[in-house]
Amino acid sequence: MYEYRAPRREFAFVIHEVLEAERVLAGLGRTDVGRELIDSVIDEGAKFAESVLSPINWQGDWQGARYDDGSVVAPPGFKAAYQQFCRDGWAGMAASSDYGGQGLPAIAHIPVGEMLCSAAMAWRMASGLSEGAVLALTRHGSEPLKARFLEKMVTGEWTCTMCLTEPQAGTDLGLLRSRAEPAVDGSFRVSGTKIFISWGDHDLTDNIVHLVLARLPQAPPGTKGLSLFLVPKRIDGAPNGVRCDSIEHKMGIHGSPTCVLSFDRAQGWLVGSAGGGLACMFTMMNHARLGVGLQGLGLSERALQASIRYAFDRRQGRAARGPLSAEQAADPIIAHADVRRMVLTQKALTEGQRLLAYYAYLLGDIAELSSDAAERERAGQLLALLVPIVKALLTDSAMETTELAMQVHGGSGYIRETGVEQYLRDAKIACIYEGTNGVQAVDLLGRKVLANGGASVRLLAAEIAATLGAGLAASLAPYAATLEAQVAEWAELTRLVGERVAKDPDELGAVAVDYLQYAGYVLVAWAWLRMANVAAARLAEGHGERAFYEGKLAAAAFYFERLLPRTLAFAAAVRAGGRTLPTLTPEHFAA
Ligand SMILES: Cc1cc2nc3c(=O)[nH]c(=O)nc-3n(C[C@H](O)[C@H](O)[C@H](O)COP(=O)(O)OP(=O)(O)OC[C@H]3O[C@@H](n4cnc5c(N)ncnc54)[C@H](O)[C@@H]3O)c2cc1C
Repeated sequence: MYEYRAPRREFAFVIHEVLEAERVLAGLGRTDVGRELIDSVIDEGAKFAESVLSPINWQGDWQGARYDDGSVVAPPGFKAAYQQFCRDGWAGMAASSDYGGQGLPAIAHIPVGEMLCSAAMAWRMASGLSEGAVLALTRHGSEPLKARFLEKMVTGEWTCTMCLTEPQAGTDLGLLRSRAEPAVDGSFRVSGTKIFISWGDHDLTDNIVHLVLARLPQAPPGTKGLSLFLVPKRIDGAPNGVRCDSIEHKMGIHGSPTCVLSFDRAQGWLVGSAGGGLACMFTMMNHARLGVGLQGLGLSERALQASIRYAFDRRQGRAARGPLSAEQAADPIIAHADVRRMVLTQKALTEGQRLLAYYAYLLGDIAELSSDAAERERAGQLLALLVPIVKALLTDSAMETTELAMQVHGGSGYIRETGVEQYLRDAKIACIYEGTNGVQAVDLLGRKVLANGGASVRLLAAEIAATLGAGLAASLAPYAATLEAQVAEWAELTRLVGERVAKDPDELGAVAVDYLQYAGYVLVAWAWLRMANVAAARLAEGHGERAFYEGKLAAAAFYFERLLPRTLAFAAAVRAGGRTLPTLTPEHFAA
C-alpha cells in the first residue's frame, strides 16, 4: 500500500513557472494572492492530504459506506477527517468571503482539490459537490434563501447534493418526473424518486442540502419545464420528507454512498426562476465537470507515484545493454524499455493534462475577475470549450494510467494489498457521471464548436499561435512545427465535420468522441511545448535542478514522438465519419 506524496514541485512548476499565476492574478486585481500565499495553501493542503486522508483511503474502499435502516454510516475515519477539514477552513476555500468563505481564486486552491482527489477520491466527492452547490446558490438564489442556508453550506457544517438522476432519466433530463407543488407560505412540496445520488445520506454532518430538479404543475414537458429546488434533509432540526431507501453496491468509490432518495412532499424553496432549473444546475454541473476532470488527474498522479516507486524498487531480469547493478541478482524493472514506456506514458499524460486543467481554472479566474469585459468574454468562451475536453480527456486517460500502473506492478498490481487496483476501479465512474464522456464529446462538437461556426476553436488556435511565435527555444522548433500543422488539421477537421453535420445531423455523434480526443491530444501537445520551453530556458541558465528540467524535456519528447501520433487514428476516424456506423438490427449480431 503506497501512501500519497503531494507533488509540490510539480504544482510550483505549473502554477508559477509556466502559468505565471502571480502576475496574472495581479493583473486581475488580486495582488493579495501572491506566490507565498499560494505555496502556503499548497503546503497546508499537502499535510492534510498526506497525513489525514491518504491513510483512510483504503478503509473507505475495503469497508465502504454502510446502509443502516434508513440512514448511512460513512467508513471509519471519514467523519473525523471531514470535521478536521471544516475546522481548518478548507470547506470554504473557494466561496465568497461575503458568506464566510476565503474567496481564493481557483488557481490558488485547485492544487488542494487535486490532492484531495489523489488522497481519497470517494471522500472528496462530499465536499466537492458542496462547492458546486454553494456556487449555484450564490449565483441564482434569492437573498433570503442565501441568508438562511449559504453560510452553513460554505463552512461545511452542512454538505450538499446534486439530485438529477431518476430511474427513467439519466442523460435525458427531459424525462424527469419529480414534481414540486406550491405551498401557501411561498415554499414548495417536492415529491419523487432520485437514484444514484452521491453522498445523498451520511453521518458526516447533521444536515444535508439537496439541490433537486423537479417540475412545477403545468410545466411544459422536456428540459424547459424543469425548476431547481433547495430541499434540506432537516428543517430547524426536524426531519423533512426525504428518505434514503438504499445505497448501491458498486465497482469503485466504495467510500462514497450512492443513494436512492425518496422525496415525499418535502419542503423546498425555488432557486432561480420557474423553468430555469437546468440553467441554474449547469452552474453546478460545469463546476462539477472540471472537478471530475480533476478526479481523473488526481488518480493519474497517484497511479504514477505508485509506478515510479515500484519500477525503481522491484528487481527482475537484466537491462538489455548489460547489468545496471551487477552486485545485485537482478536490475530494477525500470531498466526494461517496456517498463520505461509505461511509466513515461503515465508521466507524459498526467503532467501535460495537469497544465491543461490548471489553465482552464485560470481562465475561470480571468472570466470572473477581469475588469475588461472583452477579456472576460474571451476567457469565458475558451473555458466553455475546455470544460468537456478536461472532463472527458482526463478521465479517459485515468483509465489508461491506472491500468498501466497495475501492469507495471505485474501480479502484485492485481492483488488488493498494493492498493493499485483500487485506483483503476475508482477511475471508471469519472468517465460516466456528470454526463458520460460520449455526451461531453457531443456537447463539445455541437454546442461549443459548431454552434458558433468554430469561432472558439479559432480563438484557442490564436492562443497557441502566440506560444509558437514568442521566444521559443531553437531546439523546440520541430515540436512547434508539428503543433502548428496539427492546429491547421484541427481547423480542417472542424470545417469537414461542420459541412457534413449540416447535411446529416447523425454525423455529429458519429465522430464526436474522436474529435474530442483529437482536440485534447493537440492541447496537451501545446501544454508540453510550454513546459519544455520553460525547462529549456532553466537548463540554459544553468539552473541547479537539472534532473527535474531534463525530466520535463524527456517527457515532452516522448509525448510528441510517441503519444501525439495517436491523433492520426482520431483524424482518420473523423474523416471516415458516420458511414462506418450503419444502423444494425439485432439480427446483424450473431447470438
Ligand atoms: C456512482 C455514481 C454516482 C452518481 N452520482 C450522481 C449524483 O450525485 N447526482 C445525480 O443526479 N446523478 C448521479 N449519478 C448518475 C450519473 O450522472 C448517470 O449515471 C449518468 O449521467 C448517465 O446516465 P445513465 O446511467 O442513465 O445512462 P444512460 O443515459 O442510459 O446512457 C447509457 C449510454 O447511452 C449513451 N447515451 C445516452 N444518451 C445519449 C445521447 N443523447 N447521445 C449520445 N449518447 C447517449 C451514454 O453515453 C451511455 O453510454 C451517479 C451515477 C453513479 C453510477
